[in-house]
Amino acid sequence: MITKQKGTYDIYGDLAKKRAYVDEILATLCEKYNYGYIETPVFEASELFHRSVGEATDMVQKETYDFKDRGERNITLRPEGTAGVVRWFLENKLYGNLTDPVKVFYNMKMYRYERPQNGRNREFTQWGFECFGSDDVMSDAEVISLAYNAYRLLGLDDVTIKINSLGDTESRTAYREALLEYFKPHIDSLCEDCKERIHKNPLRILDCKVDGHLDIMKNAPKTIDYLNDQSKKRFERLQELLDLMDIKYALDTKLVRGLDYYNHIVFEVVLNDSYALGGGGRYNGLVETLGGPSVPGVGFAMGYDRTLLALEENGVTIPINDSIDVYLLYVSESEKETASYLTQELRLNGFITETDILGKSLKGQFKSVDRYNAKYLIVLNDEKLVNNEIVIKDNKTKEEETIKLNDLIDYLDMHM
Ligand code: AMP
Repeated sequence: MITKQKGTYDIYGDLAKKRAYVDEILATLCEKYNYGYIETPVFEASELFHRSVGEATDMVQKETYDFKDRGERNITLRPEGTAGVVRWFLENKLYGNLTDPVKVFYNMKMYRYERPQNGRNREFTQWGFECFGSDDVMSDAEVISLAYNAYRLLGLDDVTIKINSLGDTESRTAYREALLEYFKPHIDSLCEDCKERIHKNPLRILDCKVDGHLDIMKNAPKTIDYLNDQSKKRFERLQELLDLMDIKYALDTKLVRGLDYYNHIVFEVVLNDSYALGGGGRYNGLVETLGGPSVPGVGFAMGYDRTLLALEENGVTIPINDSIDVYLLYVSESEKETASYLTQELRLNGFITETDILGKSLKGQFKSVDRYNAKYLIVLNDEKLVNNEIVIKDNKTKEEETIKLNDLIDYLDMHM
């Protein structure tokens, strides 16, 4: 038997219904913030991700699905959303006429070759959004507020936003130097990956999954001690805005995030101190790195699958419809035509309708009524149909009424 690939799963049944509900809440919220929907291709030139995410990152070194297509092109399956959106932004030269910020949101599958475990898959969904064109701290606050409100609207009231600042290029460089000096004498106690990271990007050592628990990590230099005055002021201003907007946040001086392109604000959403439900930050240099002009940007990505798990673990119930409105039963072959046109009529009028398409006995059809949890059932019977009448039964109260066929839609409209 051919089975699904490790780290992937099928979406169907109640899970599909739950996701549709969550999608709608998120899309409606994005509309309120005036973000437009975007979907980029699942595969792109490998260079796009390698350059933007960073050659030295775990993601590019170990996690991307890279392959050559039949035309010998180097292709990568999308491991995250920002790079593709920046490619779109550049390809369409949207930087040319930036009188207003460009704001988009996405809901896309991502692919990373990671070790699958609870909340970590190889194919997973991220819902995220990006805002291009503003370097004002108000855009940082807007993005954080959109992320925060998304979790709260879904019912996760207790989320906290962990925030940190990496500062501008000058601050980041000073911090990098400090980290290098700090870790150099300890190089032998670091894992093989970190031994490489120390030269390529020492910030990565701080979120190493292997060395994270070491004592030397606790005393490592903190980004905020290396912020220049301007970066420090900017970070303070952001916190004032978050206070004003009543957003629950906590300073996390160790937070650096796994991708290379962040500067100034980086943030993560956590619940009860468990794994991150989402993360984001400012990426002012990214558009330039990918060959465009200097355009500031800030964005966020929600781990959609993890958020669904968190809803379940925290007892938040997602309303899903597990019933149908009407089941049409027929007594014999001769009522089948009526059943066919009537289901069409009911469905077009907005009622979830079923009838038997397996040729079951009447007894079998009654069993289906219960399995489908139908609110109303109608037994089509020629004896009544000759007078243009049908018998409709409320499946809960078991009350029956004989009504004119032409009155059926009005009857259901009135009763449901
Ligand atoms: P990142 O793009 O790595 O910053 O991730 C943003 C969010 O996506 C994380 O906070 C997770 O909630 C989620 N995420 C990242 N990797 C995975 C994965 N392999 N499986 C499921 N969710 C993930």
